[in-house]
Amino acid sequence: MNKELYLLVLDDGVPIRKSFAELNVDTLEYTVDRETYTNHWNWSRNGTWTCFEPEQLIEKYLASTEIIYTLFKPLFAADTTFSLYDKIRSVGMTFGGSAAYNTRRSGYPDVSDSVAYYSRDEGIVQSISYRSLDRVGDDSIHEFGHALDHLLNHVNYTQRTPVMAEVMAIFVEETLGINNFYLQKPHRQAKEILRCLAHTRFSLLDFTVQWEFLNLITDENDLAAWISSRFPLEKPLIKIIDFVTSFGKSSGIK
Ligand SMILES: [Zn+2]
Repeated sequence: MNKELYLLVLDDGVPIRKSFAELNVDTLEYTVDRETYTNHWNWSRNGTWTCFEPEQLIEKYLASTEIIYTLFKPLFAADTTFSLYDKIRSVGMTFGGSAAYNTRRSGYPDVSDSVAYYSRDEGIVQSISYRSLDRVGDDSIHEFGHALDHLLNHVNYTQRTPVMAEVMAIFVEETLGINNFYLQKPHRQAKEILRCLAHTRFSLLDFTVQWEFLNLITDENDLAAWISSRFPLEKPLIKIIDFVTSFGKSSGIK
């Protein structure tokens, strides 16, 4: 199976995707269309000082998918027919400079403050402007959290509030040791919820059990009830969670 990786570029002011690499997902060998990469990637016009070589982006993509695969693999220990590997590799990946990314993002009012987003149609789209390569990888991990929530928890994913959608993605990044700072909700609220959960017996569970527990919750307002039924000794923390989830509803951002 071959997979293409894309650049998001502006063509007469319109953001379009251009394939810059083709990857054999079985052998992990890849070919780079260097002409497309350099021709369509005018670094100053795209508003970026991060002049990555295409191989750096490809290697970072491969590393992120490997990390995600290793994390989620235990969920399918008893199911040899499910190809998690193919699922992860099926998620689209597009890198853009801030000019193209911001233009594309303007079509999604709900992701107005983000540097990356996941959509069912496009997969992961992320700005790499003013980011280190490690930060690009961290952003990918967050969006893969959304992607795996979509691919593995399809029904609940479509019903999740924006806060609970972010809980799933931030839970994945925190499990992998990434500790991002979030200023705005729903991300900030999601982070607070996870901080509360970390003080409960939830923190003692394996990743697979934690993931499946969180999957059941589509609305943060139900979280306290879930916690009290699953962890009845956590009453003081339930009060805190009640407080955190009562910040008010927000919408849209993933
Ligand atoms: Zn998110």
